[in-house]
Amino acid sequence: MRSLASTALRSLFDSLLVPSCLDCGDLVPSLSPFDFPVCAACAEGFERILPPACGRCGVPLPAAARAAVRCGPCRTHPPDFRRAAAAFVYGGPVARIVLRLKYGREAWLAPPLGRVLAAAAHASGLGAATAAGAVVVAVPLAPARLRSRGYNQAVLLGRAAARTLGLPLAADALARARDPGPQDHHGRRERRERVAGCFAVTTRGARVVEGRPVLLVDDVITTGATASECARVLLAAGAASVDVIAVARAVS
Ligand SMILES: [Zn+2]
Ligand SMILES: [Zn+2]
Repeated sequence: MRSLASTALRSLFDSLLVPSCLDCGDLVPSLSPFDFPVCAACAEGFERILPPACGRCGVPLPAAARAAVRCGPCRTHPPDFRRAAAAFVYGGPVARIVLRLKYGREAWLAPPLGRVLAAAAHASGLGAATAAGAVVVAVPLAPARLRSRGYNQAVLLGRAAARTLGLPLAADALARARDPGPQDHHGRRERRERVAGCFAVTTRGARVVEGRPVLLVDDVITTGATASECARVLLAAGAASVDVIAVARAVS
């Protein structure tokens, strides 16, 4: 009995020492290239967003582009946030991991991804990541989705990123005023129209963000319409600036 228990303890100990790949679950004996364990085979599928990227929305630009130049959509319709950055291009293992976090009840994935967010905020030089008095705010979930999921993945990511950056988290600063419905099949302009009026700053949120730089956290930036609308209401409530950080950025 005693040896069985010690064997079980031993294997638990071993699995803690040799981490498992976040995507495939294989043990990762060597150093991972990211801030979380991932095996060499899966690591190849992670596409980091590197310069040059749009100086506003963070979308990767062709290699010949000047760093910090604006992409076409940001020139014609600049977003309300100051800058956005994401760690990875959305797709492959990144998409699988984000979907597990959102729909697979795997909340444990949030802390390692939150640390990735914090690193990307620093690497991209987002002002709100280092500004004095800055506060982390998460994109809110529709109440029905929050009830069925049990957590808001953006709040969990925000909590981990805030801890890494040494910033406070205002988890309930934003609320859903109404649900825009599924966003997946809409173009940029239609998404912007559908999210208008969907978010509101809470009474408590207005007290917290007034005069402070805000670092807004979401899991994925698709067109940036949601982040821009959140930024608009945060600025209207008196936030000094809004920068946006996400795990991944969709690239069309
Ligand atoms: Zn793997
Ligand atoms: Zn842009």
